[in-house]
Amino acid sequence: MTEMIQEVRVRFAPSPTGNLHIGGARTAIYNWAFARRNGGKFILRIEDTDPERSTSENTAQIIRSLKWLGLDWDEGPEVGGEYGPYLQTERFATYGAALEDLKAKDAVYPCFCTPEELAERREAAMEAKTYSGYDRRCRDISFEEAAARIKAGEPHTWRLKIPLDRGDVTFNDLVFGATSFPITQLDDFILVRSDGSPTYNYVVCLDDALMKISHVIRGDDHLSNTPKQILVYEALGMPTPRFAHLSMILGPDGKRLSKRHGATSVEAYKDEGYFADALLNYLALLGWSLDGSTTLFDAQVLTDNFSLDRVSKNPAVFDEKKLEWINASRIKEMGAPAFVDALVPHLCDYGLIRGGSTVYDNELGLVDGKLADTASIKADVEANRAWYEAIYPLVAERARTIAEAIPMTSYLFSGDTVFYDETSVSKCLKAEGAAVILKNAEEALSGLQQSWSTSSIEEELRKLPEQLGVKPKVIFQAVRVALCGNVVSPPLFESIELLGWENTEARLKKAIEIAN
Ligand code: GLU
Repeated sequence: MTEMIQEVRVRFAPSPTGNLHIGGARTAIYNWAFARRNGGKFILRIEDTDPERSTSENTAQIIRSLKWLGLDWDEGPEVGGEYGPYLQTERFATYGAALEDLKAKDAVYPCFCTPEELAERREAAMEAKTYSGYDRRCRDISFEEAAARIKAGEPHTWRLKIPLDRGDVTFNDLVFGATSFPITQLDDFILVRSDGSPTYNYVVCLDDALMKISHVIRGDDHLSNTPKQILVYEALGMPTPRFAHLSMILGPDGKRLSKRHGATSVEAYKDEGYFADALLNYLALLGWSLDGSTTLFDAQVLTDNFSLDRVSKNPAVFDEKKLEWINASRIKEMGAPAFVDALVPHLCDYGLIRGGSTVYDNELGLVDGKLADTASIKADVEANRAWYEAIYPLVAERARTIAEAIPMTSYLFSGDTVFYDETSVSKCLKAEGAAVILKNAEEALSGLQQSWSTSSIEEELRKLPEQLGVKPKVIFQAVRVALCGNVVSPPLFESIELLGWENTEARLKKAIEIAN
């Protein structure tokens, strides 16, 4: 167990240039868990300084995803806090004031090189294999000359005056350990662009310092920014936080996880029917382990136990199968009432209702029937919960996501019709003797109308193999295809109970026609 760290303040600082993706969500989870474990504060700061790529829709989407995952922040958008504003676009005055301070300290200088000049010199230096960043041409311009050129309106950026005699920049990364960058590799990078907008490496330090961030926990794509940022803290005369960089997440092909590997946004997983706590559980394991063997845990266990010393510096590999497995275990243990609650939005998406007539094919293309409206579906679920809850045992052991339960059970909502899988039909309904089997099944079940239950249905149908001298498998597959449309549907007797006698009878009659 790690010792409690005093005054923990950590932040998740997404740029709203896209959706909250898997990597960002993991960073958020680790920050949150670290704050909760140490009795600290978790802060959300939106880094929206890139006007071209930042949108308020993305911000809203990120906030939605964080909330859905169950991450709550102590300071940030919507909740406010002592160190706001928490949107960088609302902090420009602070950045301007700090620049004045840096100028007064002679820690920055104006650079008048145009982008074209810079590109030209960079190319030449690259060719000569001597390029090591900006050549510091403007660093030695006298104060008077610089002031005159600024006054004359000459476009300029502001660069950090790297202390060349400082020595290497070294820090102890809480994941990667001792890390060092030679000062000679760091150029006088830009803090403020010629249009007056501040750069990431500048504002991130100022904000982290002013928000009293104690630990910066973020992706290792920022590792090479860290020495620059340390120099900014030093120039500002503000305390440097501790750093913990998280190794990247790779796809199964060993390349950095990206869209090419399929769904990467948190919302896509939500839409596919994953549970927030399953995704949280899985993402927590992408680089951290509870004890090296436990796979399933909830948010409480995570926040009670999270520590950076159990975060691995090796890249984690995103394993969709493991996520599915974790999600499937949630379904197995959730119980029928929670299952129905989770199923309702998916029923609404497909307009499925008990006693409905909506026929979908195996790929969930609409074949026939009318979609029920959301209000009717919700009302019916309330009025007939037992029927909907009885679906749970049919899929509890089979569905990896709630969304998967829909194609598995859509035959329960298609009234007197069912969508037939052709291979199953030719194998089981067009087979020798199928019509006789189905007629007998119909007769056996017709006597049960007053005592319609899974057990009475099973009892009657189990008599057929002996009666007909046909193997049970052949009989049950024929009945299954007749009623459910395919050979791979969930448990048969339970399905028949849910279909009710009338739909069962109608479907058997149709199948008998096909079989003849
Ligand atoms: N806005 C940065 C990003 O999304 C955050 C960097 C940081 O955490 O310092 O990559």
